[in-house]
Amino acid sequence: MNWNEFTKFSQMAATWGADYHTTLRELPVRAQVAPDEIIAKLPGSAPETAETIDVIWQDFQDIVMPGITHWQHPRFFAYFNANNSPASVAAEFLVSIIAPNCMLWQASPAATEIETRMMQWLAKAVGLPDTYKGVIQDSASSATLAAVLTMREKSLDWKGNAKGLSHQKTLRIYCSNQVHSSIDRAIWIAGIGQENLVKIPTQGNLKAMCLNTLRNAIITDRSQGYLPIGIIGATGATGMGACDDLNAVADIAEQESLFTHLDAAWAGAAMICPEYRFLWEGADRFDSIVLNPHKWLGAQFDCSTHFLKEPDNLRRTLAIYPEYLKTNVDAKVTDYSEWSIPLGRRFRALKLWFLMRCYGLEGLRSRIRNHVNWSQSVYERLSTHTKIEITSHPILTLWTFKIKGATDEDTRKLVDDINNDGRIYLTPTTVDDALVIRFQGGTFDCTEEDFQTAYETLVEFVDKI
Ligand SMILES: *Cc1c(COP(=O)(O)O)cnc(C)c1O
Repeated sequence: MNWNEFTKFSQMAATWGADYHTTLRELPVRAQVAPDEIIAKLPGSAPETAETIDVIWQDFQDIVMPGITHWQHPRFFAYFNANNSPASVAAEFLVSIIAPNCMLWQASPAATEIETRMMQWLAKAVGLPDTYKGVIQDSASSATLAAVLTMREKSLDWKGNAKGLSHQKTLRIYCSNQVHSSIDRAIWIAGIGQENLVKIPTQGNLKAMCLNTLRNAIITDRSQGYLPIGIIGATGATGMGACDDLNAVADIAEQESLFTHLDAAWAGAAMICPEYRFLWEGADRFDSIVLNPHKWLGAQFDCSTHFLKEPDNLRRTLAIYPEYLKTNVDAKVTDYSEWSIPLGRRFRALKLWFLMRCYGLEGLRSRIRNHVNWSQSVYERLSTHTKIEITSHPILTLWTFKIKGATDEDTRKLVDDINNDGRIYLTPTTVDDALVIRFQGGTFDCTEEDFQTAYETLVEFVDKI
């Protein structure tokens, strides 16, 4: 393909793309293929000679599309949504045409400066004070790893990178037993060790960390010679939406001089609506906060925004100055590669710019409010069903349930049967050691009817039991 053919192809792809999105409801949400069905259709080696785009396009239709689970389907109620929006896709299209590597200011000044401004816009939009500075990371997993490394370096008087962790006290980090697995991985990669991630039990409707247990764990660990270095809070954890009491956690962190990181990867997007901010009251006392516009907000993967109270801590942890990266403006500008683990960086800020301008914060807020209301309406109606036991109440759009008396095996089968039907897609989780069904929803352009279909589908399957 040359750039002339590219013109024709991208026009066709754009037409197809808009058509795909407007007819998605006709497709089953989860891919209905068996393992190895797709790979069997691909030749064992790459072609020696060029193929035409027409042939490749046909294979895209015939081989790829049947094997896609439609994450943008308006009746995707599984995991958490990973939304795109036409404006964000348009920006990504432009970015992939220009394909800059935005590692340094000089490597694309517009990318750096738009990133700085977008992080200011977003901080303001979610109600964080303007003292926070921000950077766009690829994923919440990376942002959390960067935060854990910062805790490590800060507590070791900035010597961990140089000397390694041997001959140091054993470091310890605290979080609730509801946190996302990316926290565990960050602890592994940072060399701290799973045993030193202390998981505190949770309580109450919001499944918040027990504060006495947290305080006692820190004090006991210190007296036994461990070095407590930080606390990771959650607003909207993945399983059932657990939210810690951030003010209380911040109180303990301040008393104990611990670095704080907040994982609000999913729920953070909802903080553009002031009425949901009670869920993260005290967030503005945290040193580091991650929220993913690539989940609920509509900037498709990848776009994870990382806010920092004192970015110098992060820069001191990650910045490195090889000769080939130095420029004569370094002292005056922001080089965002000093704020993140990979050196190379995509121009992710452009899609946030397009997104916030094309829909306005009010347009984005009304989507999120609708999703919350529609999901809670399904919850209210299903919770009166005689066969259903609610296992956790809604936190924003997320709640869980099971059939009364169902074994884990029964629940797994019900989830499979519902997903094989194709009208909706749901995933399970565990609550109090029992397998339950997780409901959450909110693709960018879903409607109340999509939630109604979810309600009817669920009732139909439950009544059959
Ligand atoms: C999705 C999610 C993550 C991981 O996000 P990535 O950007 O995929 O790394 C972390 N924490 C929570 C609460 C999440 O929902």
